Amino acid sequence: MKILVCDDSVINRQIIGGYLQQMGHKAIYADNGQQAVELFTKNEPDLVLIDVEMPGMDGYEATRAIRQSCYDFSQWTPIIFVSSFIDDESIVKGIEAGADDYLTKPVSAAVLRAKIHAMRRLAAMRENLIDFGKQLREVNEKLLNSNQLLSELSLKDPLTRLGNRRAFEETLTRDCRSAIRDNEPLCLLMIDVDIFKSFNDTYGHQAGDYCLQQVAQVLKQGLHRASDFASRYGGEEFAILLADTPFAGGMHVADRLRMGVEALQIQNKRAPLGVVTISIGVACSKIDGEFASEALVAAADAALYEAKEHGRNCVMGAKTLVDDSISKDFLKSKKHQRRQPNAGLGG
Ligand code: GH3
Ligand code: MG
Ligand code: MG
Ligand code: MG
Repeated sequence: MKILVCDDSVINRQIIGGYLQQMGHKAIYADNGQQAVELFTKNEPDLVLIDVEMPGMDGYEATRAIRQSCYDFSQWTPIIFVSSFIDDESIVKGIEAGADDYLTKPVSAAVLRAKIHAMRRLAAMRENLIDFGKQLREVNEKLLNSNQLLSELSLKDPLTRLGNRRAFEETLTRDCRSAIRDNEPLCLLMIDVDIFKSFNDTYGHQAGDYCLQQVAQVLKQGLHRASDFASRYGGEEFAILLADTPFAGGMHVADRLRMGVEALQIQNKRAPLGVVTISIGVACSKIDGEFASEALVAAADAALYEAKEHGRNCVMGAKTLVDDSISKDFLKSKKHQRRQPNAGLGG
């Protein structure tokens, strides 16, 4: 061990130093409190043996200064004060100043050895604790990272990297609430790739997957506001939410997206234009009053159905803006059947 011995008496330093040498330790010497503080910082010893009575800065003051120079528990170094006055008051004062133990003068080699042993045991326990704390912090950090990754993954569609159905439902609920609270219109675009079953049958599922990725890319790039949200609703269907956007704006964006997909010119020989196209249904909420998210989805869905009926590769708007009365009618209606989205391949 590297041990800092501080005593104003040369004889005492020599005696203690001699013992330490016999025990195989390396001693560093200071003859006053100030020097002890300086050598402590410079040499980072494993143990400090410090005399109490010294001219200038005494042992108590030096101990306090050493303790203050350490920020936390990880920098703790055992300090033993050495004094001929071992009355209760001196012991209490030394411990309060930050010392861990005391030795009476004249110092006995056997007791010195035992106390060094005890301090070394404490130091070893402290090292273990520090290591353990470090490991805990590392594990905790990894856990936080993987939790974050997991929650990101749980909202992403792995094929297209757009939001998945769950992310859509969450965003829909949130956007509907904001739209009602702030009296702002909310647009929903329901999108379906035209004649996609034939595409898969003709070119294979891998080509189909790649095509969906390209379509998704057009949708993503065609949205310009931070609040616009694109998701894969299921199979070859996508849903886009445009917060604070009126019906005309929704129609405009929808047409841009439709043209963007057509411009990809991905061959689909059974489709009317001979290339991959999309059909879009647009629904928008009224800005005063309440509406149900289900009514917005149903209206966009119905408009999409009309776009398909209308010959595909086109955009159709819902007949009316979605409001509370539509929501109530919709929710009461037992007859209303939502088109079922494709759950996946062959859906
Ligand atoms: P429509 O124009 O009426 O929408 O015709 P469609 O053929 O696109 O409609 P349909 O719902 O009959 O077929 C959708 C097809 O989309 C079924 C399946 O072959 C394909 N599909 C759905 N999900 C995936 C997918 O994840 N990957 C691939 N490659 N194809 C998919
Ligand atoms: Mg002294
Ligand atoms: Mg389709
Ligand atoms: Mg479909």
